Amino acid sequence: MPIYAPTDENLERAAAGIKRGDIIAFPTETVYGLGADALNPAAVAKIFEAKRRPFFDPLIVHIADKEQLQQVSSETNSKIIELTERFWPGPLTLVLQKSHIIPYIVTSGLDTVACRMPDHKIAIELIERSGTPLAAPSANPFGYLSPTKAEHVLDRLGDEVDIIIDGGECRVGIESTILMISDRGYALLRPGGIPVEAIEEITGKIMINRNMTDIPSSPGQLPYHYSPETKIRIEDKIRFDEEEACFLLYRSPEGDYPKERAEILSENGDLTEAASNLFSSLHRLDKMNCSVIIAEAVPEKGPGIAIMDRLRKASKK
Ligand code: AMP
Ligand code: MG
Repeated sequence: MPIYAPTDENLERAAAGIKRGDIIAFPTETVYGLGADALNPAAVAKIFEAKRRPFFDPLIVHIADKEQLQQVSSETNSKIIELTERFWPGPLTLVLQKSHIIPYIVTSGLDTVACRMPDHKIAIELIERSGTPLAAPSANPFGYLSPTKAEHVLDRLGDEVDIIIDGGECRVGIESTILMISDRGYALLRPGGIPVEAIEEITGKIMINRNMTDIPSSPGQLPYHYSPETKIRIEDKIRFDEEEACFLLYRSPEGDYPKERAEILSENGDLTEAASNLFSSLHRLDKMNCSVIIAEAVPEKGPGIAIMDRLRKASKK
């Protein structure tokens, strides 16, 4: 069983693995990541193989402190500094011009690189001990639900990774917001853990690509993704009359409902709490062998934008 507690000894072993070119699963505040030395192309290739991820879908590079950004990107300006001061460590990924040391396998041939500093002690510790930035996508098979617990990684990738560091449940539970910065302005490539409204306080209006699919510089923004094996259907108003269905509810319903076939994201409709429970609830429902998961639509504001993005992509499989 490759799940390891985050002890000094185990972190040292994981870091030694990274230095040797192995891939390691580790917790962050968003979801579990599958990490490799971002400067070692052969190690990074193992991530694509383990996840069965197409090589056209670039990875996010994780760093341990703001200074390390200079290693990863050749670009800096006062807005970038302001954004990193406000949101790092945290679930904001910036897409910037890459530096020459970042291999093209990480960026899928692009001259830009996605980078963030996770807000998680264990992740930071692992990056520091490895002495290198970590290229790390979510630790799930390509297209499947993202993992928010070590067990989720074990279930789906247990045969592919030697070490899964256990950090308990991920606090944010949904992936980072991805913001591209270029001379043409700011573009939201993926809604996520930091609401776009908060970023706009610094950047001004951000271009939002509604279906997030046709930005040529972001080949990974596929229309389907994050999907459980069970079909998902999104509804504004849930009726509980489908016997073989199970239900993903945004908040506690007023009347009776089939409790054994339902997951509630947040009893009183708190969108941040709902986002943090989204993937673990979907993992549980996906194990129930229901004919369909009927998901209640959530209000599209703040974290609700990221939740609806994930539900729509999951429902398109
Ligand atoms: P994941 O690592 O699974 O959270 O996915 C990372 C996402 O970041 C992918 O969907 C990519 O499309 C996006 N991404 C990574 N690098 C870049 C880049 N250089 N330009 C645009 N999008 C990127
Ligand atoms: Mg992913």
